[in-house]
Amino acid sequence: MNETMKGYVYRLKPTTKQIDLIQQTFGCVRKMWNMLLFERQSIYELYGKYPELLNSHDYLNPKRIKEEFPYMYDVDSQSLTTAWLHLKQAYSNFFNKSHDEPKYKSRHNPIQSYTTHTTNDNIRLEGSYLKLPKLGLVKIKLHRALPQGSILKAATIKKDGKHYYVSLRVEYSHITQPVKALEKAIGLDYTLQGLYMDSEGHQANYPNYYKESLKKLKKEQQILSRRVKESSNYLKQKEKLSTLHLHIKNQRKDFLHKASRYLVNTYDLISIETLDLTEMAKTKHFRKSISDTSFGLFTRYLEYKTKDEGKSLIKIDQYYPSTKTCSQCGREQKIRLSERTYNCTCGHVMDRDLNAAINIGVQGLINYATKAYGTDAIAW
Ligand SMILES: [Zn+2]
Repeated sequence: MNETMKGYVYRLKPTTKQIDLIQQTFGCVRKMWNMLLFERQSIYELYGKYPELLNSHDYLNPKRIKEEFPYMYDVDSQSLTTAWLHLKQAYSNFFNKSHDEPKYKSRHNPIQSYTTHTTNDNIRLEGSYLKLPKLGLVKIKLHRALPQGSILKAATIKKDGKHYYVSLRVEYSHITQPVKALEKAIGLDYTLQGLYMDSEGHQANYPNYYKESLKKLKKEQQILSRRVKESSNYLKQKEKLSTLHLHIKNQRKDFLHKASRYLVNTYDLISIETLDLTEMAKTKHFRKSISDTSFGLFTRYLEYKTKDEGKSLIKIDQYYPSTKTCSQCGREQKIRLSERTYNCTCGHVMDRDLNAAINIGVQGLINYATKAYGTDAIAW
């Protein structure tokens, strides 16, 4: 049995009254954070060189701030405590040099959020509603179920553009599936067009609408750059842009979820390249900015889905010459970036990506066998 923590994001459809309260909570959490931050910054400036004074200072806490601003009693008190704890954490990260100094939160940020924790079952699903502290029952679009036996630990309520979301953090115990016998294996060669080519010659066909959306994004971005900063038209355009960003992000995630789900359901062993985008950009014409999020996400989805199903994901060494090697005779040949077809002196002619995918698939089987049975297994 394994304890796993995972986040699940759902769309929320709050009523007008609930929206008011959510906005009010964003405001209070922001104020709490900014006041605490201002105090910490001032004290740090004063006593930065004297750690004893810095540590012994009697810092503000949510209780004292609430006494000063009684309207804060109207919102979920856990959200305020969480902001305080997050700031303390952010400061210790800053002091141990793992992070930059925390920043002020702005009400102009198109993304606003607060986090609340479960105490005594006060956050729970009831049919198509989510019960949240102070807000009561909020309509939720449960497009997929939480894992069986999961325990709700925390909820982050977020506004991104025009829409409201909740990210539910759940803990669940899952019985790891015993490793299945290998029946079907496949190799994937990541490609800029279409995401990947598999060793059976199928392409993932990354949808065109995604490209269309990117074009639109560029256009809207240009409109924004022509608007006067902080004018009402500018802010409107900024909101439009952030809604579009989110739309694209969701489209992409949806596609990557479906593609990885299909592979994990169909195959027992999936072999991929180790993701080194700088190296891949060199050999494959990848533009890093577009591809990194997609390949990174896709690899992560494959990782946890294969693990959940007791299947295997093998990552091939990044220096393995999958593109240069002939999948028929094993010899290496130079192949230029512009060449779409692999031509070997042995007479083997094949689509470049398919040749690479087959090599990755075979190398994955070898690595798998070596791991499972030792080097004797690859005597063939
Ligand atoms: Zn050959």
